[in-house]
Amino acid sequence: MKVIRAQAMGMCFGVKDALSTVMMMDYPERATVYGQLVHNGEVLKRIKARGFSTLEESDRTPAVSTPNVVITAHGLSDKERRTLEASGKTLIDTTCPLVSRVHQIARDLHEKGYFVIVAGRKDHVEVQGIVGDLERFAVVARPEDVLVYPSDRIAVVCQTTTPPALLDVLFETISRKNAGKEIRFIDTICGPTRKRQEAVEDLLPKVQALVVVGGKNSNNTRQLRALGEKAGLPCFQVERASELRPGWFYGLDTVGLTAGTSTLDQTIDEVYAALVEMEVSCDATIRK
Ligand code: SF4
Repeated sequence: MKVIRAQAMGMCFGVKDALSTVMMMDYPERATVYGQLVHNGEVLKRIKARGFSTLEESDRTPAVSTPNVVITAHGLSDKERRTLEASGKTLIDTTCPLVSRVHQIARDLHEKGYFVIVAGRKDHVEVQGIVGDLERFAVVARPEDVLVYPSDRIAVVCQTTTPPALLDVLFETISRKNAGKEIRFIDTICGPTRKRQEAVEDLLPKVQALVVVGGKNSNNTRQLRALGEKAGLPCFQVERASELRPGWFYGLDTVGLTAGTSTLDQTIDEVYAALVEMEVSCDATIRK
């Protein structure tokens, strides 16, 4: 099968830096990773294999048993950091600088009196970290979530992995429903996410199906898949090569390949090799 790789895909600098910090840390058994370092099962396996304790995002509590706590690439509110430090923990911070930037912008505008709207998923750990230091805020994921807000000054930022087209719609809806108010819009989509989404847009007209490699709970991976689905292509999301099924590709000649920002190069290469080698019969019999 012919496989076309997206021009930009896979691990971003934020995830690479976070991973390299934990892989080089001394005494991993003395540290707890406070949530999923990144949303990718293969990466998490490597971290656990080094001896770190880990906490699921929903189970995060300052009462961890280790003296050191690793803040994940998705970031954490200052309030939660202070609580951890007050309980005697030493923090190792792997927050991506592009996530820290959103925190800073949201806090500054909040201090200046703006009501802050975060475009993103309210159950996502990155968004929880951003709004964790705010008192007057709203989180909107869809145009239906947008309300008339109780402030004449509104600032809009977004989760770093928001699709640009969705952000445009949300901003238009916020502006329309809050006409006459001062509204500041700061596009905080991160560059690597934008590049990967643009690369998929370029790829879609050239392929008959799309394979997306990445964690099931990775927001940016889901968004890449959503672009393919919106274009009407069959889309298959896998975390590793062994999840591929020849039957998915019956009758297809050309498949596109992309990967989320927390996917290891090795995993992408394994999926690519498996797809290239996969023999998919054009008659009713799938040979492999
Ligand atoms: S996806 Fe963007 S914001 Fe998230 S870690 Fe990567 S570079 Fe940073």
